[in-house]
Amino acid sequence: MIIAIDGPSASGKGTLAKKLADHYGLNYLDTGLLYRKVAYKVLVAGEDPANVEAAEKAALDLDASPIDEALLRTAAIAEAASIVAAEPRVRAAILSFQRDFAKSPNGAILDGRDIGSFVCPDADIKLFVSASVAVRAKRRFLELEASGYAGTLEEVSREIAARDERDRNRKTAPLRQAEDAHLLDTSKLDIETAFRAAVEWIDSR
Ligand code: C5P
Repeated sequence: MIIAIDGPSASGKGTLAKKLADHYGLNYLDTGLLYRKVAYKVLVAGEDPANVEAAEKAALDLDASPIDEALLRTAAIAEAASIVAAEPRVRAAILSFQRDFAKSPNGAILDGRDIGSFVCPDADIKLFVSASVAVRAKRRFLELEASGYAGTLEEVSREIAARDERDRNRKTAPLRQAEDAHLLDTSKLDIETAFRAAVEWIDSR
């Protein structure tokens, strides 16, 4: 079984995907982390994330060596990730890794922006997880604050809106709900309720 989960940042898709992976015994891939790793490597090399050659090289060199996740979860890396992710050559460089992962013998769940629409168009289950910008900004702000972030809610809200705009309007594999994806709006749902709603929908298929 392949489950594709897409949605904008801080929609709750990552937490939901992890819980669903545990529940159904599936291998889990957070594809946003791949773009974050590429962005991190570009910045550590002293390059500009908009530099296509540098971003493609970082994507082609991507390996399984771990990078401290706290370093990848910062607002600066999120911003740089959405810049490298707009580059078709970067997307192409990590496409086969994602598709191979989706073929894991025990089944897989992948979350991202283009999983149901592009990476795994034949996924058995497609969910599009969303929430209002205000709710997502509050969630992300609380997460960042807990790890020492000194900025304001307004800054986080602007950062999320800018990233949404870039992810939705890029030419290659933009963020969008696949036609056959089920919409789960988590604006008014806590994670447990969202999880139960997703399981109910998946089990009904
Ligand atoms: O999901 P996360 O916030 O970690 O993703 C970081 C950035 O990576 C997103 O803003 C988006 O630009 C990019 N991304 C993407 N396609 C995916 C996953 C993430 O373009 N499948």
